[in-house]
Amino acid sequence: MKETNVLHKIYQYICKDTGDRNESAKLIVVVRLLILTMIVYSLVNGGLLLFFSNISGTEICLISTALFVATFILSYYRGTFISFCILNVSVLVWIVFNIVMFGWNIGVQHFIIVLLISCFFAKYRHEAAKVSYALALCVLRLYLFFYCRINDPKVILSAELNNTLQLINTVAIFWSLSMIAYIFSTDTQALEGKLIEYNEQLKAQANIDPLTGLYNRRRTVEYLDNLLKAPAQQISLCICDIDFFKRVNDTYGHDVGDLVLKKIAETFRKTLPANTFVARWGGEEFLLIFPKFNGDEAYAALEALRQKIKAIVFDGGSETFSVSLTFGLVEYDFQSDLNALIKQADEKLYIGKESGRDRIIF
Ligand code: GH3
Ligand code: MG
Ligand code: MG
Repeated sequence: MKETNVLHKIYQYICKDTGDRNESAKLIVVVRLLILTMIVYSLVNGGLLLFFSNISGTEICLISTALFVATFILSYYRGTFISFCILNVSVLVWIVFNIVMFGWNIGVQHFIIVLLISCFFAKYRHEAAKVSYALALCVLRLYLFFYCRINDPKVILSAELNNTLQLINTVAIFWSLSMIAYIFSTDTQALEGKLIEYNEQLKAQANIDPLTGLYNRRRTVEYLDNLLKAPAQQISLCICDIDFFKRVNDTYGHDVGDLVLKKIAETFRKTLPANTFVARWGGEEFLLIFPKFNGDEAYAALEALRQKIKAIVFDGGSETFSVSLTFGLVEYDFQSDLNALIKQADEKLYIGKESGRDRIIF
């Protein structure tokens, strides 16, 4: 328990943000983990050189370790970019020094790939600088390769020590590359997840009327278009409109008017058959689509709805009131197009209004 606590604290310390909102939080974690890797790695190297043969190099390892420790501390006081640059310089010096001292076979040159990858994952938008740096790293690697072809290492290591250093380098490089790829890929995955979620939210918002939560006009046209294109099936369609709604607003205020719209929308959802498509067609006008319903079936559903809405008692402050709706209902004749169908329903609604409101015209 205590151990996990300590580990958690170390982890939190490594992840401590720079506080600069323009900096990637992931990059500083990568930089710190790379520095820690270099500290352990240069200490192990130094220890090995000291233990196996009292050859020069140990003191350089210790100096490097001290440098990496300083860079680690600096990462808490300076920006990510500066720490990142210092880390790069230290690693480059380390690579050159090791190759000159011990030759090509210990495999330290692969750290160049670690620098290359971390440079491209760093979320700075200096593309030209990144490409130039990549080229410089490539040139350096080639230069070191040919340098080793011409010059012997300053220190000739035993085969045993050579293999051990190769092993340590391989492990350190694989660890560094995996760590960089892991941290940045989880970042991308989380971001992609967020984007998908956000996209779905946007899509839903594009289809929904914010006040009532019903489908909006855009989605209704799309839905009806698809419905009419599908193999022939019975469809009934109704446009309904709140009677004298302007009066509600004028008497009780716009906010009460909004509450009425919301309550009516809720009643639609609760009362109408489950597969009814309910939309806010305009201000206080709604469009209801009954797939697989003939006109009589839709009429029955609307009659129940009409009575339910009339029975709602609204609070107008000083008094209560109720509202009614007028409905224009049509049955799909298997040939009219979308606009014609809506026009027919609209005409019926108009007749309903003219003949006294609060009724269904079919
Ligand atoms: P009719 O019975 O002929 O339909 O009469 P009406 O008063 O309902 O019709 P009119 O077209 O004269 O008025 C509609 C009113 O609906 C006017 C407008 O302010 C109101 N309205 C439209 N959208 C909203 C809204 O989102 N909120 C509120 N509170 N009122 C709205
Ligand atoms: Mg009205
Ligand atoms: Mg109206």
